[in-house]
Amino acid sequence: MTENQQPVLILPEGYQRMIGRGAQGANIAAAKAVAETVRTTLGPKGMDKMLVDSIGDIVVTNDGVTILEEMNIENPAAKMIVEVAKTQDAEVGDGTTTAVVIAGELLKKAEDLLDQNVHPTVIAKGYNLAGERAEKLLEKIKVKIDLTDNVSLRNVAMTAMTGKNAETDKEVLAKIVVNAVKSIIEEKSGKPFIENDNIKIEKKSGGSVQDSKLINGIVIDKERVHSEMPSEVKNAKILLLSEALEVKETERSTEIRVNTPDQLKAFMDQEETYLKDIVSKVKVTGANVVFCQKGIDDVAQYFLAKANILAVRRVKKSDVEKLAKATGAKIVSNLDESSVKDLGFAGEVFEKKISGEDMMFVSKCKNPKAVTIFVRGGTEHIVDEIERAVIDALGDLKAVIEEGTVVYGAGAPEIELAQGLRKYAQSLKGREQLAVNKFAEALEIIPKTLAENAGLDPIDVLTELKALHDNGKISFGINVFTGKSEDMSKLGVVEPSKIKSQAIKSATEVAMLILRIDDVIASGKMKEPPMPPQGGMGGGMPGMY
Ligand code: ADP
Ligand code: MG
Repeated sequence: MTENQQPVLILPEGYQRMIGRGAQGANIAAAKAVAETVRTTLGPKGMDKMLVDSIGDIVVTNDGVTILEEMNIENPAAKMIVEVAKTQDAEVGDGTTTAVVIAGELLKKAEDLLDQNVHPTVIAKGYNLAGERAEKLLEKIKVKIDLTDNVSLRNVAMTAMTGKNAETDKEVLAKIVVNAVKSIIEEKSGKPFIENDNIKIEKKSGGSVQDSKLINGIVIDKERVHSEMPSEVKNAKILLLSEALEVKETERSTEIRVNTPDQLKAFMDQEETYLKDIVSKVKVTGANVVFCQKGIDDVAQYFLAKANILAVRRVKKSDVEKLAKATGAKIVSNLDESSVKDLGFAGEVFEKKISGEDMMFVSKCKNPKAVTIFVRGGTEHIVDEIERAVIDALGDLKAVIEEGTVVYGAGAPEIELAQGLRKYAQSLKGREQLAVNKFAEALEIIPKTLAENAGLDPIDVLTELKALHDNGKISFGINVFTGKSEDMSKLGVVEPSKIKSQAIKSATEVAMLILRIDDVIASGKMKEPPMPPQGGMGGGMPGMY
């Protein structure tokens, strides 16, 4: 038999394949590019990004996960990094940039080891050990927080909002957010529990961020159905209806033949009587405010107005549920079975024009189990970004209250963990030691980036912080406003410990996952990795790669 020089084809035409170092290199490059894109937004001095979608809609943000979601990333390895941000967002709601930046740096450091011919599985194993040790080290630097201490809770909220558009108004917003969370704390198996869904964020552009408010109840972007209804009701007795105040189809005879005007009048009278009857059932309950999830017939509106009842129709199901929690009302699905016991209470229900649009405020509820943060701000882009900052703060407060612990921020925990990991590495043999040391270096990307984004010299900052931490100053981080290493426990820069543990965990997992891949088989054309931001404005634009 003669030698056959033809390569063996095992894949159909159009498939692409990358093997070995080539595959690793491409995946790592893609992951690094994603991290590089969001890196400039990290910390109080981080910059914002403007994202423009295919129809020209603009988002201006500094929020890691928002940026990555808007970018429509297609490269598969890059997508895995985006998943890290999404997990972080779902688990904590903050720390998305941190998680992505650490993931990118872990892979960058792994590349150094690959270049020294350290096998990827060895690196992965070392990273796994380091990740587990980091978790333990974090346990040691966690600080218990007193949940009745409003100042500490506000500090958590303010740390979350520092550097966002919310920054200048962070004191007002922190107060609102802390009060909101505190009013909806529940208990689950003996532990405090927060369902963030019980905090509604309603936003309306116009006014200033300072006009934002906590409403002890629910704000709905709706107006009353009839102008003759009262626009304000004090001591509101509220009926929540999930059925329509209309003539039900089944109540109408299946076939109606109207031959004479008398017959028509009789038919209309019958409908009117029916609706009048429903409204009188509403009246019997004693309600003076009605929120209906479905429609309210014109005739019913008229009768309700006559009875001096304020009514709103087509209220979203989620809002009706929140109204029930805020006012203590039961949602009624059959008026025949409703009674005064189903009604909820609010000190005041009123309609108010906000930036030219009527909105309904259900406020002064007693002990509401659902509340509204009403966000205001000059423009739509501002209220959107304030909303994102408020969501970050809410997520952080939930994590802090549920876990009961915080860590000091500004790079302090990352330096402390890195130093601890270096000590741990000394106890290991062989090449895993190298990997643990690289892991430690990778964590330092956080203080390094905080410094760089603030225009400070990252080497100076790292050297000083490391020396301080070696001397037991575990809460020292970089004050990016003064450029000095300072005690973050004094400055009140505090974060939930869960931000760090979750970020390190997901970043380690994704780095290990990507490192273990040495064969990429793709149908169709493989996309180039996204361009790093140095590539002019291309970096963040969808459709550029
Ligand atoms: P992420 O998406 O990861 O939350 P941020 O842009 O919110 O990114 O930045 C978070 C980082 O900024 C954390 O490391 C936090 O400790 C740090 N940070 C927050 N406030 C300050 C401050 N006043 N001084 C220095 N660093 C701060
Ligand atoms: Mg943050």
